[in-house]
Amino acid sequence: MDIKKIYMDSDALLEGHFKLSSGNHSKYYLQSAKVLEDPKTAKLLADALAKQIKESGLQVDTVCAPALGGLIAGFALATALDVRSIFAERVNGEMSIRRGFEVKEGERVLMCEDIITTGGSAMEAAAVVKSLGGEIVGVAALANRGFCRRQYSEIATKPNCKLPQDIPFFALEDFTFEMYAQDECPMCKSGSEAIKPGSRGN
Ligand code: ZN
Repeated sequence: MDIKKIYMDSDALLEGHFKLSSGNHSKYYLQSAKVLEDPKTAKLLADALAKQIKESGLQVDTVCAPALGGLIAGFALATALDVRSIFAERVNGEMSIRRGFEVKEGERVLMCEDIITTGGSAMEAAAVVKSLGGEIVGVAALANRGFCRRQYSEIATKPNCKLPQDIPFFALEDFTFEMYAQDECPMCKSGSEAIKPGSRGN
């Protein structure tokens, strides 16, 4: 399955000249929610991710996603794995599990995001699951920005990766992009002007 093509076809992976929120410039921009706009595509991707997880032999009782980004991916993955789906959400800046969701002592929980950058939100939500007695057995995401090493990829973990190294991380594809400081951007040097993604209303 050509994951990058699916993202491109869904306008979830844009090619051009972008100014990122960090201020850096890039030739690519990921708007990962867009790939889940079509439920058939969401199902296709979640099924592929679930297949990878099942084949690894990992036992999962529940998928937990940090809101908002992970919600749809988490639900789709839980459907594909035929397990329970819960989510964590930020309240006054603190990640918490509400809405009557319970986590049993020793429950095997797989954290799920649409995309993992450093994994910070996933790990904040995982800390809440653990405080309730759950066991974090792995992390899953549709896409990986390439800071954390996923299963079946040779891209090494970078120092800013927050995922623990003793549990598996599953993702369908690495999306590693060159980023440039504005004064070193080759696209700026060739006279093109960077677009700020989200300037069309995000
Ligand atoms: Zn530029």
